[in-house]
Amino acid sequence: MVQGLATIVSLREGADVSAVRRALMARGQWVRPLGFDARGAMLLALEAHSAPVAREELASIDGVASVQQPESAHPLLDAQRDRVLSIGPLAFGPPGRGTAPALIAGPCAVESEAQIHRVAEALARMGVRALRGGAFKPRTSPYAFQGHGERALAWLSSAGRAHGLAVVTEVLAEGEVSLVAAHANALQIGSRNMQNFALLKAAGAAGLPVLLKRGVAASIEEWLLAGEYLLAHGAASVLLCERGVRGFDPSTRNLLDLGAVAHLAYARGLAVLVDPSHATGRRDLVLPLARAALAAGAAGVMLEVHDDPASALSDGPQALDPAALAAALTGGLLASGRDGVRA
Ligand code: PEP
Ligand code: MN
Repeated sequence: MVQGLATIVSLREGADVSAVRRALMARGQWVRPLGFDARGAMLLALEAHSAPVAREELASIDGVASVQQPESAHPLLDAQRDRVLSIGPLAFGPPGRGTAPALIAGPCAVESEAQIHRVAEALARMGVRALRGGAFKPRTSPYAFQGHGERALAWLSSAGRAHGLAVVTEVLAEGEVSLVAAHANALQIGSRNMQNFALLKAAGAAGLPVLLKRGVAASIEEWLLAGEYLLAHGAASVLLCERGVRGFDPSTRNLLDLGAVAHLAYARGLAVLVDPSHATGRRDLVLPLARAALAAGAAGVMLEVHDDPASALSDGPQALDPAALAAALTGGLLASGRDGVRA
C-alpha cells in the first residue's frame, strides 16, 4: 500500500453500508465516504493511516464488491520485508526474526588517528562490533570543522581492522563514493542528503549496504523512495535510520519519531536503526531514547561515543564517553527490547 494514498472500497448494490463500515473499523480502518462511481456503486476510502490489512481480507467482507489498493512505488524496498540485513558481522532484523538489537558506535567525526584507535579499542573491549565516524562532515556552518577527509578514512578503516570492527561512514559527494566505499563496510547517506538523487544513484552503484538517514522533513514515503533509488542502482541493502525530524520545541535538537519506527518495523516488517544522539542532541536523553527505540521495534541503535566529549570537534554535547556506554551495556541496554509480535 502506498502511504499517503487511500485504498478504495466499492460496495455491492444493496449492501448494508453500516455493517460494512463496522467490519472495516473492526479491522482498524479509518473509513471516509467518497460518494458513488459512474455505475452508482458506493465508494469508501480507507485512509492511509489505517492498519495494514491484506486486500483479500477486505474483499471478503460481506457487501464489498472490490478493493483497489494503490501500487507500491518502491517494490525493491518493500522486498526487504522480513529480511535480516547485515553490515559486516552485525545483523539487523525486523521484530520477530530473533536477531539481538545491534549497536553501531563511535565519534561524530574522526578527529585524529590516535583518537579513533582509542575509541575503537574501548568499543571492542565492551563487545561493540561496528564503528562509526565521519571523515567528511556535513556541517550547518561553513566555518565549522568539516572533517579530515581522505586521511580520516584511512585512520578509520585501520582502526576498524585493528580492533575487528565493521566500519560505517558518511559519503557526501558523488565523486567521493569509490574512495569512501574502499574504506567502509557500509556507506552512510546523511539526513541532509536523503534526497540528493545523484548521490543516491552513485552510492547505490557501489554495491555496499547503505545506512540511509531520514531527512529532517521527509515523509516516510519519501524516505522509502530514497531507499528505492539506492536499491535500484545496486545497493546490497538499505538500512533505514531514524534520527529525528524537525520539531517545534527547542529542548531537543530534533524530534525522534518513534511512531515511524514502529510503523516501519511492525507494519512494514523492515529493519530500522535509530540514532538517538542526533535526535536529541543531549547526552542525558540518549540512553532513555535508545531503550525506547528498541521497545518501538528498532533493529538497533547508533550512538555517538567520544573518549573526551568536552573536547570534541563536533557534537560533543550529545556524545557518551566510553565508560557511560560500558555501564549502559552492562546494565542491559541491548537486552531491553522488542516483544517480537506483529500486529
Ligand atoms: C552523522 O551521523 O554523523 C550525521 C551527520 O547525522 P545526520 O545526517 O543524521 O545529521
Ligand atoms: Mn554527529
